Amino acid sequence: MFEKILFPTDFSDVAKKALSFVKQLRTAGAEEVTVMHVLDQSSLDTLSAIRSVPDYLTIEKDLEARASEEMKFIENELKEVGYKVTTRIEKGFPIREILRIADEGNFSVIVIGSHGKSNIQEMLLGSVSEKVVRKAKNPVLVVKR
Ligand code: ATP
Ligand code: MN
Repeated sequence: MFEKILFPTDFSDVAKKALSFVKQLRTAGAEEVTVMHVLDQSSLDTLSAIRSVPDYLTIEKDLEARASEEMKFIENELKEVGYKVTTRIEKGFPIREILRIADEGNFSVIVIGSHGKSNIQEMLLGSVSEKVVRKAKNPVLVVKR
């Protein structure tokens, strides 16, 4: 039922909670996880508008390096509990990239946090989780904050 999981993460606390849930799904027959992170194109665009080119390139490199570090960490954690792991870092609009990857692989389930970095108290769901629930063809398991 949960053989192949797609786990999109923004490395937030809520996504960390979703990660611990992914780990537990191993005992429910899950075998394989694709962990993905999207470097948000709109944040990068804002950055490039307010910084000089060399500054922007340094910050972008730094963001990429930090994302790969976080990814490596998650990959190891998941391998420790016996998962076959694929990691992907994409650049673009998070919702679009998540839906694109979801369509590519035949995932049994998408595990996602209800909220992410913004974590606004009044919101029932963040914009990414809301769109994924709305638009993905796969079942979606939303881990609440
Ligand atoms: P918003 O971004 O709308 O201000 P938020 O940050 O609280 O709200 P979302 O961005 O919807 O909430 O995050 C919900 C979940 O979606 C996260 O826990 C994570 O699983 C996934 N997610 C969010 N952003 C990304 C991203 N850039 N790359 C991969 N997964 C993401
Ligand atoms: Mn967000």
